[in-house]
Amino acid sequence: MKLIKGFRDIFPDSEIDISNSELWNSINILIKQSLDKFNFSEIITPPIEYDSTFKSGIGDDTDIVSKEMYEFILKKDDEFSKNETFCLRPEGTASVVRSYLEHSLGKKKKINKLFYCGPMFRYERSQRGRYRQFHQIGAEILGSKNIYYEIELIGLAIDILRNLQIIDFKLEVNNIGDEDSLKKLGKKVFEFANDNKNKINPEDFKIVEKNPLRFLDKAIHKYEFSDIPSSKEFLNNESNERFDELKELLNKNSIEFKVNEQLIRGIDYYNDTVFEIKSSNLGSQDTILAGGRYDNLVEKFGGPKTDCIGFAAGIERLILLLNNNVKKASKIKIDFYVIYQSDNTKSYAYSVLDKLRKIGFRSEMDHDRKSFIKQLKSASKNNSLYTVVVGEEEKINNFVKIKELSSGDEFTIKFDNLFQEKIIDLVKK
Ligand code: ATP
Ligand code: MG
Repeated sequence: MKLIKGFRDIFPDSEIDISNSELWNSINILIKQSLDKFNFSEIITPPIEYDSTFKSGIGDDTDIVSKEMYEFILKKDDEFSKNETFCLRPEGTASVVRSYLEHSLGKKKKINKLFYCGPMFRYERSQRGRYRQFHQIGAEILGSKNIYYEIELIGLAIDILRNLQIIDFKLEVNNIGDEDSLKKLGKKVFEFANDNKNKINPEDFKIVEKNPLRFLDKAIHKYEFSDIPSSKEFLNNESNERFDELKELLNKNSIEFKVNEQLIRGIDYYNDTVFEIKSSNLGSQDTILAGGRYDNLVEKFGGPKTDCIGFAAGIERLILLLNNNVKKASKIKIDFYVIYQSDNTKSYAYSVLDKLRKIGFRSEMDHDRKSFIKQLKSASKNNSLYTVVVGEEEKINNFVKIKELSSGDEFTIKFDNLFQEKIIDLVKK
């Protein structure tokens, strides 16, 4: 039995950060704190969808759809179901829009602020920061084109990074314009590539022929062209004005950014504002988070015209950027480790353990008969803050002896008093 390449198990005490479930738990808690503050609510969609959800949403000739999707059909009674092709979802936005429409969320609320968190699947070359199963946290605002939603969403992205104590990052924004502007840009890129055909390798030229914008996103950077076509040339007035307003508001809200006129994004549904957050500490997979406006996707899926904006961040890439403080703080600590001195005192010790748990403390004890010393070692190995020692004397007198492992301070209290708030305060200090 073995794990599939590019997939991973996530389990306690793993030495590899992106496989360590304690780090996963704490990163999820920290991210959710930010999402709560910005009033986003969770949407949970299945990891399997009809392939059409992504093919029409993301675009047939994108890398994701043409090369990276895990597609399959079901085998039923020795026959294959011919009309239903499924896939493991490669991203979250198309599923959210599918669900938003199926449940008429736009009719219930004008503006929906949704987040999702879960595994995504892409058949890519696995390497640091790039896996075949990875996880994304995504936030979507459906129902408005107000520029303040751009600010809110980018503000949320930055709040998440700050809450994770990730400080070394750069925000890049661009305005790619509407469908018409993108068409014109595509045409210009095609002409540009055609003029420079002798400098472009045949594989990359195939990309140009299929979808020139893809060439701009993925391949043009390999060449040292100085006059690369940019989206800026083809923007209409309205889009230009929005972008000016966005830059002004980012400045006003002290959000540092750089305009990257070559930023295009590898998914078809984007228009106008696009943005990415990059870190120089990630090596070649340097994008932590990416997103943009997608005002036509709901309509493309058969719904009414609905302006939307969203982003997705790769959780594994976020974990790779955590500093030692955050990693240390995420280590699970047990409040109390109950240690008993003989078989006679075990049932009393168990009742102490049970009571501690009922009060709400994370507590543990070793049920297999081990020496006192071994239990003490277990307590420190399990990162216990306190031990509760239960011996004959304590049992007879209904006492427990509590010791703080870091300071060595000891005190004895009556078992019944464990319920008293001041004892809890003392211990939880
Ligand atoms: P990249 O250029 O790195 O391939 P992308 O443009 O395909 O990224 P999106 O589809 O926009 O990325 O996904 C948003 C984020 O999800 C990325 O910024 C990254 O953090 C994460 N991500 C995407 N693909 C992977 C992967 N295969 N493994 C791990 N994280 C990923
Ligand atoms: Mg990719």
